[in-house]
Amino acid sequence: MPKFKLEYIWLDGYTPVPNLRSKTQLKDFDSFPTLEQLPNWGFDGSSTQQAEGRSSDCVLKPVALYPDGSRNNGILVMCEVMMPDGVTPHPSNSRATILDDADTWFGFEQEYFLWEDGAPLGFPKGGYPGPQGPYYCGVGFSNVGDVARQIVEEHLELCLEAGINHEGINAEVAKGQWEFQIFGKGSKTCADQIWVARYILNRLCESYGVDVNYHCKPLGKDLDWNGSGMHCNFSTKYMRETGGKEYFEALMAAFGKNLDEHIAVYGPDNHMRLTGLHETQSIDKFTYGIADRGSSVRVPHSFINAGYKGYLEDRRPNSQGDPYQIASRVLKTISEVPLP
Ligand code: ADP
Ligand code: MN
Ligand code: MN
Ligand code: MN
Repeated sequence: MPKFKLEYIWLDGYTPVPNLRSKTQLKDFDSFPTLEQLPNWGFDGSSTQQAEGRSSDCVLKPVALYPDGSRNNGILVMCEVMMPDGVTPHPSNSRATILDDADTWFGFEQEYFLWEDGAPLGFPKGGYPGPQGPYYCGVGFSNVGDVARQIVEEHLELCLEAGINHEGINAEVAKGQWEFQIFGKGSKTCADQIWVARYILNRLCESYGVDVNYHCKPLGKDLDWNGSGMHCNFSTKYMRETGGKEYFEALMAAFGKNLDEHIAVYGPDNHMRLTGLHETQSIDKFTYGIADRGSSVRVPHSFINAGYKGYLEDRRPNSQGDPYQIASRVLKTISEVPLP
């Protein structure tokens, strides 16, 4: 009977951005266990800003399983944090109460910087490389450096072994900046995979002496270096199968009306990134446009060509955003628009 190494993963209580935490539990199972077979577990919430010292136990409730390709008989166990009663979600649990619908599909484009000694991986010590231009989807040592692609490739393999629905990878506009895309049907299915893919990347980078910097503008807003987003592509069953110009315009009006509510969950420091000067509209305006990367929502050509059918891209969510909250907010606004 193999001993399985169960890596229980959770989000801590730090704000505005939770950190990923994890610890291992060993359990005997005849074969790869199901979610129902995994017990709840506990941790010391006073060490993660989730409890006071005197009564510090929090509960970990497994919610999704992924094979862990970095270990023999390893499993990554995504968890929700619950109160000591085991059934009440902890205030930091941003997943428990979100809107979810298996027919609403999400594709997140997670951008990030690989970071070493206080600067993007590949920046010369104490200085800057040549200006942006050649790095986006670039190839060759002077464009991507020596280890970045190895990290990115290993990350891809580990995600695929975990069953994560990775859809693509590219080198981004700034040196040391990369992106991966993950697609999932339903808020929780997709967002769980983003969090686990982030976890796998952070852990993988340890052995390279590299960190992952998810801040949306890590080089500051005054320098001409790209920021990091997490574009949220979405489609409902109605958008895919029926659609139409009238419904689309009503949907965009609802997005405009809920501007503040969206920005509130689209990631911290987004004013540094959404300036209106570069690839996205400024933070206090809502616009949409066909193939327009300077708008808040980009309408792909495919959407128009199909007769206002398909998916849309909200470009405002940033790289540090919580995909649970982002997906749920998109769904909330969609739910406010009556179907014709
Ligand atoms: P770009 O960089 O041009 O914005 P990407 O190729 O990086 O585009 O990302 C496109 C995203 O759109 C992917 O994450 C993909 O999963 C997502 N996507 C494609 N079709 C749909 C759909 N029908 N519903 C939701 N998301 C979709
Ligand atoms: Mn992309
Ligand atoms: Mn991108
Ligand atoms: Mn995009």
